[in-house]
Amino acid sequence: MQKEITIIGAGLVGSLLSIYLSKQGYKVKIFERRPDMRKMSMSAGRSINLALSDRGINALEEVGLMEDIRKIAIPMHGRQLHHIDGTSGYQAYGKEGQFINSVSRGELNRTLMNLAEKHQVEIFFNERCDHIDWKKNEIHFTNTSTNQTHITKQELIFGSDGAFSAARLSHQLQHDRFQYQQYYIDFGYKELTIPAGKEQSFQMEKNALHIWPRGNYMLIALPNIDGSFTCTLFFPFEGDPSFNSLDTPEKTRDFFNKTFTNASIMMPDLEKEFFNNATSSLVTVKCFPWIRDDKFALIGDAAHAIVPFFGQGMNCGFEDCSVLNNLITKHQHNWNLILNEYQTLRKPDGDAIATLALNNFVEMRDKVADPVFLLQKKIEANFSNKYPDKWTPAYSLVTFSPDVRYSEALSRGNAQQSIMNEVMRMENISTLWNSDTVEEFMLSKINDLES
Ligand SMILES: Cc1cc2nc3c(=O)[nH]c(=O)nc-3n(C[C@H](O)[C@H](O)[C@H](O)COP(=O)(O)OP(=O)(O)OC[C@H]3O[C@@H](n4cnc5c(N)ncnc54)[C@H](O)[C@@H]3O)c2cc1C
Repeated sequence: MQKEITIIGAGLVGSLLSIYLSKQGYKVKIFERRPDMRKMSMSAGRSINLALSDRGINALEEVGLMEDIRKIAIPMHGRQLHHIDGTSGYQAYGKEGQFINSVSRGELNRTLMNLAEKHQVEIFFNERCDHIDWKKNEIHFTNTSTNQTHITKQELIFGSDGAFSAARLSHQLQHDRFQYQQYYIDFGYKELTIPAGKEQSFQMEKNALHIWPRGNYMLIALPNIDGSFTCTLFFPFEGDPSFNSLDTPEKTRDFFNKTFTNASIMMPDLEKEFFNNATSSLVTVKCFPWIRDDKFALIGDAAHAIVPFFGQGMNCGFEDCSVLNNLITKHQHNWNLILNEYQTLRKPDGDAIATLALNNFVEMRDKVADPVFLLQKKIEANFSNKYPDKWTPAYSLVTFSPDVRYSEALSRGNAQQSIMNEVMRMENISTLWNSDTVEEFMLSKINDLES
């Protein structure tokens, strides 16, 4: 008999997972708390986008969706920096031909749900998981439109219900020695818009991720296919300036005029959006175990919520699905073996990308504008171009090297950083940066590491 699987949450990861599982021959049901987003009109002019990179692309290719997604993706080849003095700069993300993609979250989720249904996945909307009774293998739901509760029995359950997962909470409360760590940074975020110009034209460079680095905080902007940009302000909750201190429309506009001058000119609805749009918090969640025998596993943000500064949360969740799919084939549907190896492989990678993402906040908001950092990047790029087998910058390991695990990207990145720290302490490095001395030093250090 065809085994049934229940997934809690039809977000990006749950929807993708359902496609893999149904292709593996399972009968899949998803229960989603929200109404069907495909039947709702997008709130006027608001589009939220995400950076999709190679790990996520690999998974979308595996389920045959990438061709469709390419049509709605905007390549971003590098960072366009907008400095406080009005000057701008550009940093390529990788080598020529390497780029990340701006994709609408809503469109991506809708496309995944459509493909899931084509594969006979049943999606039940307005169904909130309240808790799971592990002794009876029962999931308790409330229908959020009728308020009716019901219970379903299930042999195998996936919790893909996001950072504040109800499935995880049930798992935690009924599991001896469950490890749980939740860490909020002192910064929140708010989404704002730069609308399209005349005839849906882009008011700034289309193929770049724009950053206004301001030391302790930053504004970023990603392009949308309608010519607009979705901006995100990452800003302290408290202090001056902060979300707390910008408490009137006048103070907000004045602050933007002074701090993000060119962006402010392109934001006619700034005051309205600033006070209407939510200020949201940023959390990292780590937990263990992710699984329960052959009955249950956490996946995506429910297993490893991270801050968004490496643009990897969704990409990591998509990679979880791909890894799981390979294990189903490897272990020939033996779920004890599959879930055990899934957790063994993915937990260190989830922890690693959480650390990398936190570190990247400082790089984006502050270091990208620092001349010493820029020199270091130049030296690294130079060396990596000459010795591509010996040195790949940490950003490229994470973003463009899906064959390298996140945990390996973190350890290789740390080792390379300690070599760079020594290089940057060399006398006259600003004039010597392109010299044989520096090259030989780096070569000997990296050879030492390899041996
Ligand atoms: C500001 C910001 C920017 C980001 N940018 C990027 C980026 O550029 N690139 C990238 O890769 N990642 C990015 N991320 C991370 C990315 O959004 C997440 O990693 C991704 O959405 C995780 O997908 P998920 O399906 O695991 O969880 P979610 O997308 O949170 O989906 C969970 C689903 O479960 C449903 N649900 C919740 N509770 C229940 C319940 N009790 N019962 C039933 N259903 C439930 C929810 O309604 C939702 O549909 C960003 C995150 C933020 C906050």
